[in-house]
This record gives sequence, structure tokens and C-alpha cells, in this order.
Amino acid sequence: MTFHFDVVVVGAGHAGCEAAAASARLGAKTCLITMDMNKIAQMSCNPAIGGIAKGQIVREIDALGGHTGIVTDACALQFRMLNRSKGPAMWSPRAQCDREKFIWTWRGILENTDNLQIWQDQVSELLVEDAEVQGVKTFLGAEFRAKCVVITAGTFLNGLMHVGRVRLPGGRMSEPASPLLTESITRHGIRAGRMKTGTPVRIDKRSVDFSLMEEQPGDEEYHTFSFLNIPRRLKQLPCWIVYTSAEVHEVLRTGFADSPLFNGQIQSIGPRYCPSIETKLSTFPDREQHMLFLEPEGETTNEMYLNGFSSSLPMDVQLNALRKIPAFRNLHAYRPGYAIEYDFFDPTQLFHSLESKCVAGLFLAGQVNGTTGYEEAAGQGLIAGINAALKTRGEDPFVLRRDEAYIGVLIDDLVTKGVDEPYRMFTSRAEYRILLRQDDADMRLTERSYRIGLATEERYRRMTEKKAAVETLIAFIQNFSVKPSLINPALETLGTTPLLHGCKLSELLGRPQVTLANIRPHIHTLDAEIQRIAEGRTPLELEEILEAAEVEVKYAGYIRREREMAEKMVRLENIRIAGRFDYMNMNAITIEARQKLTAIQPETLAQASRIPGVSPADINVLLVLMNR
Ligand SMILES: Cc1cc2nc3c(=O)[nH]c(=O)nc-3n(C[C@H](O)[C@H](O)[C@H](O)COP(=O)(O)OP(=O)(O)OC[C@H]3O[C@@H](n4cnc5c(N)ncnc54)[C@H](O)[C@@H]3O)c2cc1C
Repeated sequence: MTFHFDVVVVGAGHAGCEAAAASARLGAKTCLITMDMNKIAQMSCNPAIGGIAKGQIVREIDALGGHTGIVTDACALQFRMLNRSKGPAMWSPRAQCDREKFIWTWRGILENTDNLQIWQDQVSELLVEDAEVQGVKTFLGAEFRAKCVVITAGTFLNGLMHVGRVRLPGGRMSEPASPLLTESITRHGIRAGRMKTGTPVRIDKRSVDFSLMEEQPGDEEYHTFSFLNIPRRLKQLPCWIVYTSAEVHEVLRTGFADSPLFNGQIQSIGPRYCPSIETKLSTFPDREQHMLFLEPEGETTNEMYLNGFSSSLPMDVQLNALRKIPAFRNLHAYRPGYAIEYDFFDPTQLFHSLESKCVAGLFLAGQVNGTTGYEEAAGQGLIAGINAALKTRGEDPFVLRRDEAYIGVLIDDLVTKGVDEPYRMFTSRAEYRILLRQDDADMRLTERSYRIGLATEERYRRMTEKKAAVETLIAFIQNFSVKPSLINPALETLGTTPLLHGCKLSELLGRPQVTLANIRPHIHTLDAEIQRIAEGRTPLELEEILEAAEVEVKYAGYIRREREMAEKMVRLENIRIAGRFDYMNMNAITIEARQKLTAIQPETLAQASRIPGVSPADINVLLVLMNR
């Protein structure tokens, strides 16, 4: 049987869901093929979305009209704004979610998206003719013909799971691996490699003594991931903190000889920043304890996730070690932790649109590009889905720059530098951090998405109204003069020096001790201005406006400096060099630069400058040749 679509998306993980929804909403007739419809957007590891830098990605996905933020808000059991004590560039929202509700909320969205069909099956082959994608074939023998195919197969490609010396093929616990797809892709010149990741034990909460743990509640303040500000619905639950001990470590060490990480059974590289407990023990042998978080998996389930205890040690070793922790003395587990190895494809063989340089019309997104994390996957999925749909319309690709979005940083890093270990996002990867804040993702990105037809009218209207209110408030703050006699008593109570002369409110707000919230009660005109802005808005909408305005004023100097730097880079970004040079014959640049430039084939001079091994001197040579 043969079906015809504009776009086929393979895999309904976080990348696939965003890709399929974006493609269909942009008008492309889209089919999402996935192995199991009841596992749509399954969170393979911790049911938590966001966190440092990842939270910013989710805000960007939302600003662009994606769904991860909306689904997270609908399923959040606990919400926290991380790094509140640091500058706003570092504030990162994180939510613990109800895993099952997350699946069913996403599935409901996809089932009700126009132009989108779902097909439950396993894709076995990529169909390619003359280096151009034609569609895919499935295990059931169906053929799906399409102009573009987006592969988002996650950890399933030749997936192999490990628990001690036990090895099981699979893409995730109790789910089959995808054994044929890698070969049908690499056949066309696409390079593949192998990576690994791991997950901890799941615990029955009835067996836990919570009185022996430290409670970690969520934020009282009300935030959401989505700029649509849909209130959270679920009961908010705490997480719990507990520690390992020397006794726990002693038991864990008894399993090291049977550890697939240490006995050579696992050869591939895992995520450096999500190490297993056995890796932590061997990297920090003198540490007497490690902090663990026991986190809820759902509103109604007894299953809990033990964050920080990822392991592939033998099952009995994992459980016996945990029983040495007083709170887990009577522990029952639903299943042990395990590690998984899987195939990924070299992302330097992709354009910034995430289209393959080897096969036209083939897009790759998510874990298959060597990343780790739901947010990184979802961000890539959204961009791949958008670009697949745009390609079917014959339109230019949609690419985000490094100064526009963390998603831009992520994709540029992947296609320019490649990966030698699972790539996860950090704020330190972005050179323009203060421009890429979580509070203003809508003002950075919604208009771009609206212009291609993805962000809805409502989203665009909300953004423009917010932007106008923020600008009005900033103008007020910059123009309003504060008199010492009016404000000095308040400044003293806030622990900051009194004014000798009058100054603008913006100057006062530059002081770390002064915020809009604590100064507002002392300046009647400011309070009246804020009340005027509050009219017809929810408290959350007002809070977002105050936050954005305050950050813009407080950090104006840093923001201006980063904008200037970014503008300089944009000039290089606009110099297109793709296909203009035969690098191997350029004697004026180093051999390393010739090889790297030939391998990556950068699209712009700016991208060339970011390739490791290409020096500023090499870039100058390219500039001189361009001028000639
Ligand atoms: C055991 C484990 C532990 C992890 N631990 C962490 C961690 O600690 N930290 C972290 O950041 N991330 C972790 N991850 C990774 C995280 O789950 C992924 O980054 C994220 O889910 C990737 O999203 P994705 O959409 O790319 O792929 P996935 O979420 O893996 O989704 C892939 C989808 O494709 C479908 N599929 C695959 N092959 C086919 C096919 N041939 N035909 C049809 N459908 C197919 C699958 O059924 C699935 O629905 C872990 C993953 C696993 C499995």
C-alpha cells in the first residue's frame, strides 16, 4: 500500500512531535509515523522539563509557536525558577511533570492538528533516488512517498540496553530497537557513530520513609513556560532530598567488576554532565556523599524517580546499596537503572536548516544528531519541521542566529563543530547570554515565526501588546525624576545610600538593592503607572511586563554591549561563502583550516570563523580573496 504526503516525520519523541505539528500547521500534508502511539513524547528519563539553559530553549520553542511549553504547563507538578539569585541571563524555569499526562496531552494536540495524520508502525527503510529523498518504507510493508522526510528516532537506532552483564536490544526499557534504519541512511554517505546514556531506578513511594528526607517545595510565585499564560492545573507536589553515604558507596563498589562502564562492555561515550553514580564514585573517590533528589513521576502514581542515581550496575547491587540509606531501608523498586547505547549521525553533514548535505529533502533532528535532552530535541524538531514544510513550498530556510536564540546556538554548534560526546545546552555555550533571556523570548522570536505563518494571531497580538507595555514602562522609568526628599527614607530601609541630588528612576533601578516591586510603594506616580498597565491583564501578565522592563533597565549597559558585539558578527553572518572556494588549493591558509573548511563547507564567513582549527588569520585570507 502506498500513501502520499508532503512531509513524513519518523518518531514521535520530543523532536518528532514538534516537527510534525509545525510542518502540518504550516500547511504541509504531514504524516507522523511512530512505533507506539501510547508513548508519544514519552520522557525516557526524568519527567522534568527545563532547567539551566534548557528552560530558555522551551521558552523559545513556545515563542515560536511550538507546544512543549504549553504541554509542560498543563502537566507541571512542581515549578521552580532556577538561579533566581543570579543575574537574569541565568534565570531558568524548570518543571517536574506528570509523565502520563504529558504523553496524553501531546497526543491530544497531535490528533487534533489539521493536515496531520499519525501512523503506528516501524520505519525500516529510507527511500532515496539520485541523492533526493522519496519517502520511507515500514515493517508492515506500507510505503510513504513524501517530498521531505524528518528522522527523529531518538535512542532507538540499534539501541542496546545494559544492566550489569545483562544486555537487551531495545530503544528504551520494554520497547523494541530500530535495527534497520541506520544502514539505510548511512548507505547514502551519512556518517554514523555510537553514544550512550543512562537512567536511574524507579521507586515505589509506599516504601519510602519521607520523615528522613528534606522536603524541597516548588516556587510560590506563579510562572508558566508558555507566553500564552495558561494557568497550571495539577496539584503541586514537593521533591525530596536525600544523600548517599560511605556505606552505600561500599556496596556500589562491589559491583564495579560487573559494571558495563568499567569492564569494556560499553565502548561509547555518555553525557559528561549526567554521570552515573558509579562514574561519580570513580571520578570523586574521596567524596563521602552525593546528593540525590526523589521526584514524583505523576499526580496519581506511586512511582518516583531518583535523580542523581543513574546506573547500569547489576540490579542487586543498585537495590542493596540504596537500602543502606535510612529513608530507603524498606525500598521496593519498580525497575533498576540501566544504560543504553544507540547510533547517531554526524551533524556536521547538515545545513543550519537541519537538512542533510548528502540527501536533499532529508532532515534529522533530536538525539539522532548527537544531542541529549528533551528540550534540545524539541528545539531541533521544531526547526526541522518548519524547514521541511518551507522546502515543500519552495521557500528559503528558517534559520536562527546565535544572537537570536539558544536554538540558534545549539544548531550552529552541531553543524559547525560536530559532537564527540552527547551535546547538552549550557548558558556558557552562548556568547550573547544577556540577549537570550527567558523573559523576552517572545519579543525576540514570535514576530519571525508569525511572518512564516506559524505563530498564531493570538500569540502575535499578546506579544505586541506586551512589548508596547514594556516600552511604555521603560520610557516612564527613564524619564521620571526622583527627589531625594521623597525617596531617601525608603532607600535607607533598603540598605542603599541616600541620594544627594535628584536622579532618574532608571539610575536608581540600576542599584542591586532596588527593584520595581520594592520601590513602587514609595513612588505614587510609578504605582499609578503600573496600575494603569495592569488594567485588563492577569497578575501573571503584569508580572512578565514588570520583569522584562526591569531587566532591560537594570542591565542596559550589558545589553547594549552584547548587542554591539552581535551586530558586528551579523555583518560576517551576511557574507555568504558556500561553494565559492576550493579550500584544498588555498596555500595561504593552514592545512588544518583547509581540511576543516572542506569537511564543513561553511555557509557564511561567520560560520567559518567558528570552526575549531580555523584561525582569525585564515578568515582574513578568505576576506582578502572575497574582496578580489
Ligand atoms: C535510558 C535513557 C536515559 C536518558 N537519560 C537522559 C538524561 O539523563 N538526561 C537527558 O538530558 N536525556 C536523557 N535521555 C535522553 C532523552 O530521553 C532524549 O534526549 C530525548 O528523549 C530525545 O528526544 P528525541 O525526540 O530525539 O527521541 P526519543 O524521545 O527517543 O523519541 C524517539 C521516537 O522515535 C520512535 N522511533 C524510533 N525509531 C523508529 C522507527 N524506525 N520507526 C518509527 N518510530 C521510531 C520511538 O518510538 C520514539 O517515539 C535518556 C534517554 C534514555 C532512553
